[in-house]
Amino acid sequence: MKLEHFRFETDADGIATLTWDSPNRSMNVITVQVMDELEKAVAHVAATDAIKGCVITSGKETFSGGADLAMLQGLGAEYQKRAKADGPEQAMSFFFDASRRLSQIYRELETCGKPFAAAVHGTCLGGAFELALSCQFRVVSDDEKTRVGLPEIKVGLFPGAGGTQRVARMMPTGDALQMLFRGDQIKPAQAKGMGLVHAVVARDALIQTAKDWLKANPAAKQPWDTEGYRLPSNKVHSAPGMMIWPPANAIYRRETQDNYPAAKAVLAAVYEGLQLPIDQGLRVESRYFAKILRSPQAAHMIRSLFLSKGELEKGARRPAGAPANSFKTVGVIGAGFMGAGIAYVTALAGMKVVLLDRDMAAAEKGKAHSHKIVSDQIAKGRAKSADRDVLLERITPTADYNDLKGCDLIVEAVFEDRAVKAEVIRNVQAVIGKDVIFASNTSTLPITSLAENFARPKQFIGIHFFSPVDKMLLVEVILGKKTGDKALAAALDYVRAIRKTPIVVNDTRGFFANRCVLNYLSEGHRMLIEGVPAAMIENAGKMAGMPVGPLSLTDEVAIDLAWKITQATLKDLGPQAVEPALVDLLDELVVKLERFGRKNKKGFYDYQPGQPKRLWPGLKDLQKVHLDPDAIDVEELKQRLLVCQALEAAKTVEEKVIVDVREADVGSILGFGFAPWSGGTLSYIDGMGAQAFVALCKKLAAKHGPRFKPNRLLVDMAKKGETFYGRFNPYKKAA
Ligand code: NAD
Repeated sequence: MKLEHFRFETDADGIATLTWDSPNRSMNVITVQVMDELEKAVAHVAATDAIKGCVITSGKETFSGGADLAMLQGLGAEYQKRAKADGPEQAMSFFFDASRRLSQIYRELETCGKPFAAAVHGTCLGGAFELALSCQFRVVSDDEKTRVGLPEIKVGLFPGAGGTQRVARMMPTGDALQMLFRGDQIKPAQAKGMGLVHAVVARDALIQTAKDWLKANPAAKQPWDTEGYRLPSNKVHSAPGMMIWPPANAIYRRETQDNYPAAKAVLAAVYEGLQLPIDQGLRVESRYFAKILRSPQAAHMIRSLFLSKGELEKGARRPAGAPANSFKTVGVIGAGFMGAGIAYVTALAGMKVVLLDRDMAAAEKGKAHSHKIVSDQIAKGRAKSADRDVLLERITPTADYNDLKGCDLIVEAVFEDRAVKAEVIRNVQAVIGKDVIFASNTSTLPITSLAENFARPKQFIGIHFFSPVDKMLLVEVILGKKTGDKALAAALDYVRAIRKTPIVVNDTRGFFANRCVLNYLSEGHRMLIEGVPAAMIENAGKMAGMPVGPLSLTDEVAIDLAWKITQATLKDLGPQAVEPALVDLLDELVVKLERFGRKNKKGFYDYQPGQPKRLWPGLKDLQKVHLDPDAIDVEELKQRLLVCQALEAAKTVEEKVIVDVREADVGSILGFGFAPWSGGTLSYIDGMGAQAFVALCKKLAAKHGPRFKPNRLLVDMAKKGETFYGRFNPYKKAA
């Protein structure tokens, strides 16, 4: 048997080992060729009398991340092509067959008459874990790195190669639904507890354990193929079976707001599939899978959250030919809220950090933040005290600029004050080497003007983190007018080293993310002023797909910060720049009532210890009008909350603040949680079409004011029927 992606050998006992080791790839991925070869190998095992059973394992450091999502996305393009050429019916028939092929191969493996065992080390996710699930025996290594799971839901898909059917036949339905909804990567011991794997052993005992089991169980069958099999939660239409569905539907609604068709398909596939024998259940799953794979939500989520995100992380915006940078020591100036977080993520990535503040006590306090983060992890069993020692060892607190000598990169996070920053920049410059890049974490001051304080403005750049630094995945890299390629490459290499996702943004007020998200906050404030009940505003935000409502988010960011930004805008751009009613609302909350948000436990919400936060009842008194809730168009509230952000993103493209559309999409989801179902701010517009979006903007502008007026770029795109990914095709530029 000739195979390229697998090695195949049979031992003296007739136990075969199929070792997956795709050439020229660091990780095994399921492609069409892999499917072809797997099918061939299964047929060979089935047809060869001398083979008693087969172990499937990986020849790489990790098992496999699952199916090639680009291949799945390609199927959608193929469908479109065929639909045009042969009509939708034939195209759909092709699509259905192609999208269920993996499911059929796995079922063939499971029923071919010979037992299979999966021996797993490292990550085994998605389609790869579905392969393991179709094996009669699953053993995983007890290694730190080993994880199993079905994370498809995170990119708008669901497990379509038997995952929904097998998992729901292995464990109580409620647990199965939870696992499928969450898409978590599960550690070995927990996987065993859930019944997803049979054994956890040392890595070097994996193959032997699998072989021993196969030898002892030559006629093994899956439970659902065995006579007398009963569903773990009994029949769907039994009394205990039916208990599950009302709460399951409610949880689905609460968690998704009905924005994610894939999650609904999981519910349907499990509900319908469990009422059928497994073969028909798998067919039902395949039907839903084909439907979801063709949904715009899946296409846009795969594009932004998997493909584009990966491309940006691997350096899609890195200047070609710039030599790679590796950083041994990073100087972090300012050990406050942000600086302390930056020091932590830098040390976590293995770099040394010189953490400088005005005095030793402040610098030590910044270092203590890292101590606290790791101690919390230790308390949860996620880290060992040795990890904390190693990490803390890397951070040197100081108040002496001379300690910055020898740093390869500087990241500044001192007070947001021009004069303070200017002085710090001069002090740093006096001690660092000539080639060192200086990065500022400013959130509002233009990089171009800060760079004027630095003798080598080509080496000056913005690296804008989001808070909390250890949790937020996005970093904005800001180019000043004079920033050079070397600085950009260095910033991107650093962001990569700390394992975050970068977007590159040209210098402008608010950069990209804050510019968009501030509109979300203000639109919520406007609704309050108009007389919309606060709870309705918050719910509209969540229903639109935002992680939290605009009032809640203002509390998290801090209302006094919103007030400060508004004051700065008024000062810089004049009194017309912000509507008086918005200024008055923030004045009232911040100046008069001292309601600053979560930070002083008083904001749009009240925060009582040990109790869930509650909307502050006094908000009603701040409203001069109270609209009748039944007369309010909730759909329009949702539209306003998303359109104000998407329109701002479109403006950043027109102004060339954003030059790669992938960055607006990825940045909006990772930076401020913009409705992930849409694939991001620009995909939201592409999803409905520029024409429909412009019409919606015009309707909203007529009713609510010129802030919704579509910009020139959008009007032009609507006229020409263009999309962002068509007009600004990021791949064309790269080619
Ligand atoms: P912070 O007040 O918590 O910390 C600032 C630190 O800088 C303090 O520890 C202070 O002692 C130190 N400092 C002040 N002057 C100094 C000097 N001359 N030399 C050395 N250290 C000095 O502020 P923060 O929230 O961490 O913000 C820091 C920077 O990060 C600001 O530019 C801010 O705009 C930016 N930023 C903040 C956020 C956020 O959410 N807070 C997000 C992104 C960016």
